Amino acid sequence: MHDVAIVGGGIAGMATAARLQARGLSTIVFEAHGQPGGCAGFYRRKGFAFDVGATTLVDFEPGGVGGELLQSIGMPPIAGEPLPGYVAWLPDRAVTLHRDSSMWAEERLRMLGDTPAHCALWRLLDHLADAFWAASRSGIKLPMRHPSDLAHAATLLGLRNLPLARYITWTLGDTLRAFDLRDDLPLVGLLAMLVEDTVHSTVDDAPLINAALGITIRGAGLTRASGGMWGFWQQFRAQYRALGGDLRVGAAVERIEGRHGDFTLVTRRGTYAARQVVCALPAQLTAQIAPPSVRAWLAPYLERDEGSLGGAAVVFLGVPEAEVAGHAFTHHQLLQEYGQPLGNGNNMFVSVSAPGDLISAPPGHRAVMLSTHCELAPWERLSADDYVARKRDIGEALLRYARRVYPDLGENAVVYEVATPHTYARYLHRPRGAVGGVRQSLANTNQHAIPHMLGVPGFWLVGDTTWPGLGTVACVLGSRIVADGVIAAARSRRRLIPRLARTPTASTSSASAAEPIYALPLPLRADRTPSSQSHWR
Ligand SMILES: Cc1cc2nc3c(=O)[nH]c(=O)nc-3n(C[C@H](O)[C@H](O)[C@H](O)COP(=O)(O)OP(=O)(O)OC[C@H]3O[C@@H](n4cnc5c(N)ncnc54)[C@H](O)[C@@H]3O)c2cc1C
Repeated sequence: MHDVAIVGGGIAGMATAARLQARGLSTIVFEAHGQPGGCAGFYRRKGFAFDVGATTLVDFEPGGVGGELLQSIGMPPIAGEPLPGYVAWLPDRAVTLHRDSSMWAEERLRMLGDTPAHCALWRLLDHLADAFWAASRSGIKLPMRHPSDLAHAATLLGLRNLPLARYITWTLGDTLRAFDLRDDLPLVGLLAMLVEDTVHSTVDDAPLINAALGITIRGAGLTRASGGMWGFWQQFRAQYRALGGDLRVGAAVERIEGRHGDFTLVTRRGTYAARQVVCALPAQLTAQIAPPSVRAWLAPYLERDEGSLGGAAVVFLGVPEAEVAGHAFTHHQLLQEYGQPLGNGNNMFVSVSAPGDLISAPPGHRAVMLSTHCELAPWERLSADDYVARKRDIGEALLRYARRVYPDLGENAVVYEVATPHTYARYLHRPRGAVGGVRQSLANTNQHAIPHMLGVPGFWLVGDTTWPGLGTVACVLGSRIVADGVIAAARSRRRLIPRLARTPTASTSSASAAEPIYALPLPLRADRTPSSQSHWR
């Protein structure tokens, strides 16, 4: 019997598994697809390595949320291209989104307005971002279920930042209105695009704090690994295995039964036992395979969030280097028209493999990913012919728009393929092909997000449909919270035996990575039960 079974080998599942394994628990990961990665995964074609979803790892440098993960599992920093920023191509101007904060402070005033209102807005966004990025890096935890969670959050925010808590009920739109900037087209166009890309929401719906984090995400550091996500997973999988972790690919879990200390996971290849279970799947999938009590616990959240799901379409191109020549930046965001709804190609993200990255592309070539969020309904109930036509249209539209940056893009493509919501449903089992968690609003995020603990002791949920939402950084923060919870629950059952003192071996290089659980200041406490938690309703 394993201490913990993790269902789903995306970034949330693998990060949770590696943390637990490094801290002395025995773990097994079940991944339905033939390789780990999920929406932060990859595929290879004709010598190219393409990222199927996430192209950038967020805050993976030392001291960051992802950096803490690497350190805690004894993995060296990611080899790759730390992005100096990227270019936002608005309909009437191009704004360089520098990573460097002073260059960005100059650029935004020069390109988007420098009135007292503009300056005050940026000051507020910077202050929120500084405070909440720091709290995230220290492991802040939401939704709060106990008074101790509130005290913990207050400590992490610090006295100076406590007044910021009043913005918890504000949207970005409220804030723009407060500064009389809601109708400032270029400013709102840029913010809308950044918010849509990161919290999958609109200016008027996006909670201000989440929006501030999304708007400043490149300041936290974006890295494209050498070889893209393929390169990242080679390293990560090797590290997990070196720690003694057991990764089973092509192993979909069909059913989970039992209780804390004695769960059973049913797969086509056999039945496995584990003391605790972490479901690192979208909440909808978890409800399909979990014990009935978990299903009941999740039902109201799923009903609430059904209308807030969205998908993505991506074009993968393997092209001769000349087609992407002439630009200092390898990443771009484009907005076609102000005042039109975002997604469906009106805004898009362009990611090009770094020059010299010969794992992502053969010599003389580069890998290119063009992505946009999209609605799900237009992709549903299509005939085979209509699906082919719709897929062709979105692919051509994205390529056409991307030629604003790279006029010859795709002229002599070695690879040209398109992913749609059907692709994410087929290969990654994302329900309806939805990706990126829910479109965040005040009603479904932070204190109202789906919690990591679902009322059944020893059963946990992590990933981009739980707090803090979508993206690699969010999933990694969730993995830290869940790993801490799993360990606390294990201790409370007094099942931790001396092997917890065992330090990870093999490629574990840093001493702190092998920190034994008994050294952590975790309180011994009883498992939380549904009756001790306040439900969101
Ligand atoms: C187009 C696109 C671009 C993006 N760009 C970025 C970006 O640049 N930076 C960033 O940080 N984030 C980005 N994201 C978001 C990010 O990729 C996701 O939020 C994140 O990868 C989600 O990880 P997860 O582990 O929660 O879920 P998933 O990645 O969906 O992982 C769940 C895993 O569970 C497996 N599974 C499903 N059912 C079962 C079962 N029954 N048994 C076993 N396994 C099962 C699936 O195969 C999958 O591998 C992007 C997403 C998309 C779609």
